[in-house]
Amino acid sequence: MRRQGVSSPSLTPNLSISVQDLKGVGPKRAEAFARLGVRTVTDALYHLPLRHEDRSHFRPIRDLRPGFQETVVGEVKGARISLTRRRVKILSVIVGDRTGSLVAKWFRQPYLKNRFPLGKQFIFSGKVTWGSGLEMMNPDYEEWDAGEQVHTGRLVPIYPRTEGLYPRWLRNFMKGLIATWTQSVQDFLPQEISRRHVLMALPDALRAIHFPETKEEAEAGKRRLVFDDLLLLGLGVAMRRQAAEAEVAEVITGRRELEQTVLARLGFPLTAGQERVLADIKADMARPRPMTRLLQGDVGSGKTAVALLAVVHAVGSGFQAAIMVPTEVLAEQHYLKAQALLEPVGVRVSLFSGATLGRERERRRRAITTGEVQVAVGTHALLQEGVTFHRLGLVIVDEQHRFGVKQRAELTAKGCYPHTLVMTATPIPRTLALTLYGDLNLSTIDELPPGRQPVKTQLLHEGIRLQAYQFVMEEVRKGGAAYIICPLVEESVDGDLKAATGLAAELQQGILQISSVGCLHGRMRTEEKREVMNAFRNGQIQVLVATTVVEVGMDVPRATVVVVEHAERLGLTQLHQIRGRVGRNQTQAHCILIHSHHLTDEGKARLQAMVECTDGFQIAERDLEIRGPGDLFGTRQAGLPDLKVAHLLRDAQLLEVAWREAFMLVEDSPDLSAYPLLRDTVRHRWEGTLGLASVG
Ligand code: ADP
Ligand code: MG
Repeated sequence: MRRQGVSSPSLTPNLSISVQDLKGVGPKRAEAFARLGVRTVTDALYHLPLRHEDRSHFRPIRDLRPGFQETVVGEVKGARISLTRRRVKILSVIVGDRTGSLVAKWFRQPYLKNRFPLGKQFIFSGKVTWGSGLEMMNPDYEEWDAGEQVHTGRLVPIYPRTEGLYPRWLRNFMKGLIATWTQSVQDFLPQEISRRHVLMALPDALRAIHFPETKEEAEAGKRRLVFDDLLLLGLGVAMRRQAAEAEVAEVITGRRELEQTVLARLGFPLTAGQERVLADIKADMARPRPMTRLLQGDVGSGKTAVALLAVVHAVGSGFQAAIMVPTEVLAEQHYLKAQALLEPVGVRVSLFSGATLGRERERRRRAITTGEVQVAVGTHALLQEGVTFHRLGLVIVDEQHRFGVKQRAELTAKGCYPHTLVMTATPIPRTLALTLYGDLNLSTIDELPPGRQPVKTQLLHEGIRLQAYQFVMEEVRKGGAAYIICPLVEESVDGDLKAATGLAAELQQGILQISSVGCLHGRMRTEEKREVMNAFRNGQIQVLVATTVVEVGMDVPRATVVVVEHAERLGLTQLHQIRGRVGRNQTQAHCILIHSHHLTDEGKARLQAMVECTDGFQIAERDLEIRGPGDLFGTRQAGLPDLKVAHLLRDAQLLEVAWREAFMLVEDSPDLSAYPLLRDTVRHRWEGTLGLASVG
């Protein structure tokens, strides 16, 4: 779905008038459009068809094939209205050509009868069925000699279905829109670029992508729009990078002895991968430019240890550090780790969570402001709370794809930017990493700590889910612990919650009587969550039934099994994240994916990929192929504009071409002032996400 509130490129003034001001669009339809993210004429021009249906080949009625989408031209031979047994009105129009006849039928639309006067020629297009003869249910239709065809007799655009906008109405509307408005669209692409890459002019491309004459034309139109998408993305990233070059940061060199002491306290040597990444980070921090580094590493690769050592590096030089995480459960966990590791060496750590209120919160805030406490751990609330740091040198953002430019600006102290390290366990395929993080440096931990055994994964049909719980019971007997994950049942938090609490109660009273079952879900208060997590961590609870809140980051090494209910409802990357909750030490761990009766072949293949593959990068590639990047990586979260047409994997080749142009343009004219139309378009497309004064 398109993101709301993001409008399309091109600022041609008359194209920014609201669709509601157009003929035929009342408040109801305007609302339906708004749900699609369409508010202005430009938005509407960029509301693209999903595909085109080829209705340009007419078939004699005699040759129609039941089961196929077909198009015929015929004369109206008769029309009548009848009633079904349930008293539903059916309109039947008998259509004939020289070879035979068929009946076109519509339910509940008797008023259409007047549109089909006897003897008139029509084109009909629809799926042919075999009833008491050849039939078409609910076909699209159009008068044979009504001028230019819109719904039949050509390549017909099929738009995404939306409540409140009938396909036929929408198609007519789009046809009119294209005819009236495309000539006012200004082409923002510099001519030499269009020429170099043989791109269609923008007005032509818009026409072609909606109502093409040929398949080739549709392709060419699309290619132009894809190019735009990628170029605009590239320009934004290039400009961000340029702006970053001008930023100033503190030079941080660390204190060797302190780091050695902490390293020794860790209890394990770093892996070569961790060492390498830590060296990257230290090198960045030693420069007077703010570090913007993305650290990726598969689940369980030990990112936290690296993060904490980076914190020590900053603290050693007299700076403060902030660690930000997406959930309170994770904040608590990091806090406990940081505290255990750092307080004994004299580094003070403070937690900022929803549970700390009133005076205590105020006290902690002050301790950060005075510099008495060096490390702050919390959710993003840490920023909103307006905690002022005494001397912030490093910000670490865990399990988040991007730390927004705006947020970074909020932390800027005395004109200096903190160094920032973003950590993610959702591995990003190379092409995508390049795009999303073109302005970040990338480090990868490419190995797991020694002795880890791949998690054994199996699929289990829900009919025999009891086996999974018997297995859990065995593990608990042997001293292990288990997660049981209940994904969102319906599109509601309530359904989610009920499923988890219900299952927890059922298991506790039933098969898992001998163990202690706990429950964790998003609706619990921070304090309750903390209690449950602590109990699970120290073994008072052996089985934790949870919604997907445990998806990221949880680290309880004694857990050896994870059971996922309704596994087919989750994406592969998500499943991989969940599976990563176990297998965090040398013991063999297990993951059981329970799926429903009605699993499509594709669904089965997806889950099978989890059984066969334990490498997060490979899984991410698969997921990306299946779901597309927007969904998977949340471009919104990444602070990037949505791609309207481009698909980063499929269009990888064009991506490179477009980005080369983008970087050349910015080099030539850093603020794009030499290309005012293009500059305005970039600014518009990146609205609010480009941040700062970097664009104009
Ligand atoms: P993630 O990369 O998923 O955030 P964590 O940082 O939570 O992974 O680490 C996973 C587990 O591995 C933790 O229990 C941690 O203590 C342990 N660990 C991290 N680094 C090493 C290492 N070099 N050797 C052994 N165990 C390690
Ligand atoms: Mg982690």
